[in-house]
Amino acid sequence: HAKSAGANRYLFFNDTMNKQAVKRLQIENLIRHGLKEDYFTVYYQPKMDMLSGKVVGMEALVRFITPKGGVISPGSFIPVAEETGQIVDIGTVVLRKACLDVKRWLDQGLFNGRVAVNLSAKQFMLPFLCDQIDDILQQTNLASYHLELEITEGTVMQSPTLAIDTMKKLRARGIHLAMDDFGTGYSSLAYLKQFPLNTLKIDKAFIDDMSSARGRNMVDTIVTIAHNLSLSVVAEGVETLEQLEQLRKLRCEIIQGYYYSKPLSADDFAAFLMAQKKQRQPQLYVS
Ligand code: C2E
Ligand code: MG
Ligand code: MG
Ligand code: MG
Repeated sequence: HAKSAGANRYLFFNDTMNKQAVKRLQIENLIRHGLKEDYFTVYYQPKMDMLSGKVVGMEALVRFITPKGGVISPGSFIPVAEETGQIVDIGTVVLRKACLDVKRWLDQGLFNGRVAVNLSAKQFMLPFLCDQIDDILQQTNLASYHLELEITEGTVMQSPTLAIDTMKKLRARGIHLAMDDFGTGYSSLAYLKQFPLNTLKIDKAFIDDMSSARGRNMVDTIVTIAHNLSLSVVAEGVETLEQLEQLRKLRCEIIQGYYYSKPLSADDFAAFLMAQKKQRQPQLYVS
C-alpha cells in the first residue's frame, strides 16, 4: 500500500516537473519569436524630483506586446530569459529603443534628464558591454550623460573586482550608475563604499514598511547612508501621499511610484511630459 502511494507521489512530482519544463520551453519559444518579430517594447515610469516637482528621469521597463495587443510584464518572462541567456538580446533591444525614445523627447524639448535602463547580470558581465553601449549611443545620437544603468547587488557581487572595473569604465563615459533594489541583496557596506555609484534606489519593500516607526527608521538609515556616501537616493514603489510626506521629511530627493504614474507606453509618456511642461506650478505636495 505504502509502496503504491510512494509511486503515485513520484509520478505526481514527475508530472509537475514536466509541466514546468514544458512551460519554460513555451516561454523560451515565445521570447525567440518575440525577438524575431519585434514584440518587445519599452514602457517608462517617471522619477520625480521631490523639491522642484519636475520629471528628472524615467526608468525604462520592458514589456512583451502580444499580436492581439496584450501587455505582458517582465515578471513572467525575465526569469526564463535570464536562464536561457535571451536576456542579453532583450536587453540590447531595450537599450536601443530607450535611447531612441529619449533622444526624440530631448529634441522635442519635452525632457532634459536621464533614462535609466535595467541591466541583467549576464549583460553586465559581457566583455563587450562598453563597446555595445558606445555603438548604441552613437547610432541613436544620444549623449552618454543622458543614460543611467540600474544594476542590482546580486549582479555586482558575482565578481566585485570585475564589476568595479566595468563600473569605472561606464562612469568614465559619463554614464550614471544606480544600485537597484538596494537593501534586498547581499552586498556589504564595505563594498558599497568601493562601488562607483551615483544613486541608491530603495526597494519598494522598505517603502511598504514605512507605516511602522521601525520601518521609517530603516528608510531614514538608508537615506543617511546614501547621503554620507554622496549618493542621491530614489524611493521606489511610492503609492500614497503619506509615504511621500514621510520621504520628504527624511530628505529623500527622488520619488518613483504609482503615486505619480504607473509605467506608460512611449506615447502616453510623451503626453505625460507634455502635461507636466504645461503645468506652471509644481504639482507636488509641499506642506
Ligand atoms: P525594477 O527594476 O525594480 O523596476 C521597478 C518595478 O516596480 C517595475 O515593475 C514597476 O512597474 C514596479 N513599480 C513601480 N512603482 C510601483 C508602485 O508604486 N507599486 C507597485 N506595486 N509596483 C511599482 P516591472 O515593470 O514589472 O518590472 C519588474 C522587474 O523586471 C524590474 O524591477 C526589473 O528587475 C526587471 N526588468 C524590467 N525591465 C527590464 C529590462 O529591460 N531588463 C532587465 N534586465 N530587467 C528588467
Ligand atoms: Mg530598476
Ligand atoms: Mg527596483
Ligand atoms: Mg525590483
